[in-house]
Amino acid sequence: MIENKMNRRSFFSTLAKITGVAVVAPTALRAVFTSEAQAQEKRRSAAPAAPAAAGGAAPMVDPKDPVAKAVKYVEDHTKSPEAKGNHCATCGFYKKVTTQNGKEVGTCTIFAGKHVYANAWCASWNKKA
Ligand code: SF4
Repeated sequence: MIENKMNRRSFFSTLAKITGVAVVAPTALRAVFTSEAQAQEKRRSAAPAAPAAAGGAAPMVDPKDPVAKAVKYVEDHTKSPEAKGNHCATCGFYKKVTTQNGKEVGTCTIFAGKHVYANAWCASWNKKA
């Protein structure tokens, strides 16, 4: 009986010669992927979170902004007869975040990355469920 004395190194070497492709050991691949994952995690933790999503200070929606104008956004719902008492705090698109300038503010689905006043209103108001 012929004894197979091929060890692991010679096996990979022979395989590389036959296929013409360098065979990379799984441990080497694991090292590459681990270092890439660590680099991604480092980049992710170094990047600042979006202020509004993180609950921090975010710019307020400017009523003169074209999108705000298009939906007739007003910072005080009592200034718009169309609001009929409705305001952001009772809107399904609103989510309370914090207090800014002594007033409650939150996010609105329509104005990503910005805050709206809880007391504001716009024509896209949709009753909170
Ligand atoms: S959609 Fe709702 S939460 Fe957003 S600005 Fe209009 S009323 Fe406020």
